[in-house]
Amino acid sequence: MAQLQRLVISPSQFSDRHINLTAEQEHYLSRVLRLREGDCFIAIKNGEWWLAKLLTPALAEILEAIPASNELAVEVVLLIALPKGNAFEDVVRSCTELGVTCFVPVISKRTLLKPSPQKIERWRRIAEEAAEQSERQVVPAILEPITYSECLSFVNDFSFICVARLEAKPLLNCLVEVKSQIENSKSKIVILTGPEGGLTEQEEQAAFNAGFVGVSLGKRILRAVTAPVVAASLVSAVLE
Ligand code: SAM
Repeated sequence: MAQLQRLVISPSQFSDRHINLTAEQEHYLSRVLRLREGDCFIAIKNGEWWLAKLLTPALAEILEAIPASNELAVEVVLLIALPKGNAFEDVVRSCTELGVTCFVPVISKRTLLKPSPQKIERWRRIAEEAAEQSERQVVPAILEPITYSECLSFVNDFSFICVARLEAKPLLNCLVEVKSQIENSKSKIVILTGPEGGLTEQEEQAAFNAGFVGVSLGKRILRAVTAPVVAASLVSAVLE
């Protein structure tokens, strides 16, 4: 199936074993990929993969379910104090490739970006494209931006805050220690990272008080866009 093109389809487009393609999807399949009637592609709906055949440029028939499992064993939630400019786009792209299931943009004290609704829509499209290209079954959710204090309510038994200048245990060691507990409980892993200027001492303390464990990603200071990618890489390395 690897050679077949994948396309994310919204559940509302499925009806009675057929898929009604949008004008944009029709253009993509027929004009860009040059698929013809009778050609097949993979339709991804809510994490399920379906083999679909084009009947007309605007209509496809669902042939069969395709068993596929490229997802990490547990969900990974990234709470990211937004970096400046378009940098979050790179974070979404790379971390989607690495298996993150949910991005939560956070407005912390030193966050400079105040994203417009258009920007959030763009992030969602990037997540969708990255999920398609990395052959994932799940398109990660990108939540609406929330305040720093709101983001602390995501805490669970496996929540880590990346701290650049405090003596903290490496994230890798923490994950290895709790790996079997995480897998048995099927609990989410939650990771929080700061913006360019870092989190304030009070913000870091508030996270510790809420139950986040402070973790290090190494001796060097990573950019705000690099830290979540490194954290997500460590999570996927340990889980897989
Ligand atoms: N001047 C800031 C400071 O000293 O905290 C630098 C912040 S860094 C550019 C942005 C974020 O990346 C930090 O808030 C932290 O979450 C994460 N980060 C960067 N390097 C890290 C490291 N070596 N270990 C853990 N987290 C790190």
